[in-house]
Amino acid sequence: KRLILVGPPGSGKGTQSPIIKDDYCLCHLATGDMLRAAVAAKTPLGIKAKEAMEKGELVTDDLVVGIIDEAMKKPSCEKGFILDGFPRTVVQAQKLDEMLEKQGVKVDKVLNFAIDDSILEERITGRWIHPSSGRSYHTKFAPPKVPGVDDVTGQPLIQRKDDTAEVLKSRLAAFHKQTEPVIDYYAKKGVIAHLHAEKPPNEVTTEHGSLDN
Ligand code: ADP
Ligand code: ADP
Repeated sequence: KRLILVGPPGSGKGTQSPIIKDDYCLCHLATGDMLRAAVAAKTPLGIKAKEAMEKGELVTDDLVVGIIDEAMKKPSCEKGFILDGFPRTVVQAQKLDEMLEKQGVKVDKVLNFAIDDSILEERITGRWIHPSSGRSYHTKFAPPKVPGVDDVTGQPLIQRKDDTAEVLKSRLAAFHKQTEPVIDYYAKKGVIAHLHAEKPPNEVTTEHGSLDN
């Protein structure tokens, strides 16, 4: 399976990814997680990406296309992948098609996490993450067993620098302007499935449960 998750910040992509990944034995490629790791490690890529990320703007297409091209070569991605947060522009979608064409494969399904903007501020400002695994929690909707601590590793949780009401506004503007056209791009190819992303997590899981058809 080759799957893509599209949705605004806080729509639940990161929460649903591990469930889909385990069900289908796919590799999970989240460009946001990879970029944050590069920023933390101060790699040349991270240095280039930092400013745009802090402002809630998209980093350049070349930068993320390069990351994905590299990551898809991993042996664990051979059976298929879940792209979480990529492509976010039509140019990125076209580049992805070119990469897949070379391998003689194509995207099977694009899950659109449809949700109203008004719900997202509470989701984003209450989010706590475990940086090295990408696991996310929510103070109200998905609290960890011990506040501020990852359930699995016992390591501390952090809040993302860009998870503020202020930066969310820019991220949503970028989503509507640059990423919504990506949904139309895949709708024309007939591979879109729409999810009711405002529902509780287990109900969203039920909706994507039938990816086989
Ligand atoms: P994304 O990866 O799309 O930005 P996340 O999966 O990280 O979104 O979810 C954002 C926040 O909302 C997290 O704190 C998460 O625990 C919480 N969350 C995710 N899905 C739901 C849901 N269906 N209902 C309520 N809260 C949710
Ligand atoms: P969220 O989970 O809240 O949707 P991400 O973690 O996916 O956000 O992305 C965080 C930031 O990383 C984005 O605001 C953007 O600056 C950058 N980013 C991630 N993926 C891409 C992409 N495909 N194209 C451009 N910028 C990206």
